[in-house]
Amino acid sequence: MAQPVHIIGAGLVGPLMAVYLARKGFDVTLHERRSDMRKTKISAGRSINLALTARGIQALDEVGLRDTVMKIAIPMKGRMVHDAQGNCDLQPYGQKEHEVIYAASRGLLNQMLLDAAESHKNVHIVFNRRCADYDIDKGLLTFADETSAKEDKVEAPVVIGADGAWSAIRKAMLGKVGNFNYSQSFLDYGYKELTIPPKDGGGFRIEPNALHIWPRHSYMMIALPNTEGSFTVTLFYPYEGKNSFEQLKTPAAVKEFFFREFPDAAPHMPELEQDFFTNPTGALVTVKCSPWHADGKAMLIGDAAHAIVPFFAQGMNSGFEDCRALNSLIVSSSPDWEDVFRRFGQMRKPNADAIADMAVENFIEMRDSVTNPQFILRKKVGFALEKRWPGKFIPRYSMVIFHPEIPYAEAQRRGALQDRILDKLCANISGPEQVDWAEAETLLRQMA
Ligand SMILES: Cc1cc2nc3c(=O)[nH]c(=O)nc-3n(C[C@H](O)[C@H](O)[C@H](O)COP(=O)(O)OP(=O)(O)OC[C@H]3O[C@@H](n4cnc5c(N)ncnc54)[C@H](O)[C@@H]3O)c2cc1C
Repeated sequence: MAQPVHIIGAGLVGPLMAVYLARKGFDVTLHERRSDMRKTKISAGRSINLALTARGIQALDEVGLRDTVMKIAIPMKGRMVHDAQGNCDLQPYGQKEHEVIYAASRGLLNQMLLDAAESHKNVHIVFNRRCADYDIDKGLLTFADETSAKEDKVEAPVVIGADGAWSAIRKAMLGKVGNFNYSQSFLDYGYKELTIPPKDGGGFRIEPNALHIWPRHSYMMIALPNTEGSFTVTLFYPYEGKNSFEQLKTPAAVKEFFFREFPDAAPHMPELEQDFFTNPTGALVTVKCSPWHADGKAMLIGDAAHAIVPFFAQGMNSGFEDCRALNSLIVSSSPDWEDVFRRFGQMRKPNADAIADMAVENFIEMRDSVTNPQFILRKKVGFALEKRWPGKFIPRYSMVIFHPEIPYAEAQRRGALQDRILDKLCANISGPEQVDWAEAETLLRQMA
């Protein structure tokens, strides 16, 4: 008989893991707190759209979902940087044609993943079912029915917690697993989602094939395209202080702020004031914990194991990579789960920590550095080095976004060494044509 595996959470990561496990022949039950988003109109939670990059695509490809997802994905070639006067400059993400990232609707992606999971007869999805607890000793899950408030218990010898940043499975482990490390750290910034609707009569109001950024040093606004012609706009802004959400208390204050700071975006946001006061202000949290497993009984993946801030667009992508990694460690139909879970944590935890830290750093790059001439010079020199010595020098951003074969921790390590090379090469020059190539070659050789 096929071994049962219970997955808690049918957000983005849970259904993909279910697909992987179903293909291996396990009997998978997915338990989801919310109702079925394919039948009821509910928010998909968190951001409205998100950026899908090579790591996520690689996992989707492995289970045959790449083409389906690409139908709803819009390629973004680079960052379109908008200055305070409304001038724009496209900073490409990479040098090659295929080096693009993709904007996708979270809701549609989630629905596709649910469909894919359900297309396997050995996957059962139960909605409105909130996991309240997991008794690790007894291997017993407790559920609360969200519609009737009834509770029931289910025997579950193997549980995968894909229940997001506020995971109930992690909470159960926190109380039970010895030497369990846990930290959550919030940024002093919140985020607010707003909209640039399509043009009257259809079509995009601003360039669709770019991720737009309005960097304003201590804060920023971004916009990602949606297939029907709109953009989801996100303001990342401090909660308190001189420039902060606490200053934006009235529709007039909101309007004045947006027209002053984002003069080329605000006229495209007819519902600005209403959206601003209707939409919630989201929090930005990094969650780290270890170990990620309790014996061979429970295991955390995705945000439940490592919630990160969105500035490298890697939360979902790293969660999809988790599924791929966990799948690669399951080589039999009755695995030694404790061994699989332990090896999974050893393999992924250093990488999850690396991308968590790089994501926080990238906030400064996005909101501040992108307009700094020295930053722009370093980008150009980095691309020039990559062109001259492909494979030997790959800009850190490219390693994270376009090179899934390079683990995050390795991208972080190589990125730090490359930074030192760029410090030296860019110290006294004003353009990439002035690079001392002999010195560059020596420095690269020393790095190897
Ligand atoms: C503003 C913002 C922008 C982002 N942009 C990007 C981006 O561009 N690219 C990217 O890769 N990532 C991005 N992310 C990160 C991404 O959203 C997360 O990493 C991703 O959603 C994690 O997927 P998950 O399935 O682990 O968790 P979730 O998507 O949070 O899913 C968890 C699921 O578990 C369910 N659940 C929770 N508790 C229980 C319970 N007790 N019982 C049963 N079910 C439960 C929830 O209802 C939910 O369906 C962004 C995040 C934010 C906040």
